[in-house]
Amino acid sequence: MKILFVSSEVAPFAKTGGLADVTGSLPKLLGAMGHDVRVIMPFYKMVETSGASIRKGRKGVEFSMGGVQHKGLLRQTSIGDIPVYLVENKEYFYRDSLYGTPAGDYPDNHLRFAFFCRAVLQLLKRMDFRPDIIHCHDWQTALVPILLKYEHKEDPFFMRTATIFTIHNLAFQGIFPKESLVEMGLDQDYFSIDRLEYFGQVNLLKGAVLTADVLNTVSETYCSEIQTPEMGCGLNGLLRQRRNDLYGIVNGIDYSTWNPATDREIFKNYTSSTLSGKAANKKKLQKSLGLDQTADIPLLAMITRLSAQKGFDLLEPLLPVLAAEKLQMAILGTGDEKYMKLLSDFKEQGASNISITLEFKAQLAHQIYAGSDMFLMPSHYEPCGLGQLIALRYGTVPIVRKTGGLADTVFDVRDNPKDPNGFSFTDYTPEAFHEAILRALQVYHERKKWEKILRNGMNSDFSWESSAKKYEDLYKTGLKKIMAFHL
Ligand code: ADP
Repeated sequence: MKILFVSSEVAPFAKTGGLADVTGSLPKLLGAMGHDVRVIMPFYKMVETSGASIRKGRKGVEFSMGGVQHKGLLRQTSIGDIPVYLVENKEYFYRDSLYGTPAGDYPDNHLRFAFFCRAVLQLLKRMDFRPDIIHCHDWQTALVPILLKYEHKEDPFFMRTATIFTIHNLAFQGIFPKESLVEMGLDQDYFSIDRLEYFGQVNLLKGAVLTADVLNTVSETYCSEIQTPEMGCGLNGLLRQRRNDLYGIVNGIDYSTWNPATDREIFKNYTSSTLSGKAANKKKLQKSLGLDQTADIPLLAMITRLSAQKGFDLLEPLLPVLAAEKLQMAILGTGDEKYMKLLSDFKEQGASNISITLEFKAQLAHQIYAGSDMFLMPSHYEPCGLGQLIALRYGTVPIVRKTGGLADTVFDVRDNPKDPNGFSFTDYTPEAFHEAILRALQVYHERKKWEKILRNGMNSDFSWESSAKKYEDLYKTGLKKIMAFHL
């Protein structure tokens, strides 16, 4: 099959979260299965500074959107054998961040990503690449299925192309004021309840949910959760309507990047049978973070976007409690102003056992996964979560709230007495979170029991292989739908 991935972020070129990990790794697997896979993303400033080798392209596009002339150039890089096309438009993408600053989103995000989606469809024609599948990710790419369904309805070029739309996080829907329609080059017909209108505004994700041939999200539990009023973020009704086209496929992680036996970013490589290597990583990490270099004190880690989703309401009241306990913590994160302030205020109080780094630092993330004993993910909701999967691989025992993908991948002794790989709690309260941490701390000092849990994690398989096969089936389902439509 000819498959095009369309994404607003792709690792290692530009990343703010798990979406980039997925779009940077799944294409490689599908390529290895024999498909012609290509990826397209915006050419951000961050891509240039990532050190990737970038080829200048000669192809470009020019079109009018909302009465304003727009130009884009195509550049190219690659992930192994997979071509990665980069859509260049300096005004829109040559900025310090992908989507905004801690104070909020860039006000022209609708224009930036509408331009990107329109450019993608035009560039495919310029390249004469007719994908069987266009696989879109999150609201930034929602206009692709929408435009194909309406503007390109009769277009022979895309007649045999099926769209797959993956929801990585339903909370981000791309909602903009009514006036944005015209600016994105869409006429008033789109402002109706069966298209993009949503409580007097324009909702791009809604449009994709209505128009993509096949929909999926990134774990089975989250797939069920988003069809409920509690977790459907206002789209549960529509998602239920489309339940026959909606699937849940758990993400994998790229074990060529995330493997403690070969990882070049960490201090010492190790496996589940050479755990002294993990202890060496802990010692170096403690030193680099300014923590006491004590071997048997438990080191708890958090590597995360700083957003309400990630459970900071639970962490906030616990921070002073944890600071007084016999443990160490390493927190690495960036994100919302509110939580940046919360953590920097706490840092100023100078708790000597808690290290806080308010930056996005890829290498430090590897070192923390390798050098810590426990990994905290008290998420309010979690579509899949990659942090816990990476932590499992590095023998860093996850303590998670039982929601979404966390419920599908972390098994507490209470759920799985034979083969637990972590600790979990259900109620979204600081008390339940604290209780789970205390249970973990207790087991930590019973070395045999602890190492069994840790090894179970290291040996569990969350590689992409089985999920990539499921995506292949999803693509076939999409193609069948298209064929049936044209019969
Ligand atoms: P989400 O996509 O919701 O942010 P995931 O757990 O799916 O959460 O993925 C987060 C990814 O981003 C992981 O690879 C994690 O290691 C990485 N990450 C998050 N914050 C940082 C940071 N401050 N520095 C480096 N890596 C980070």
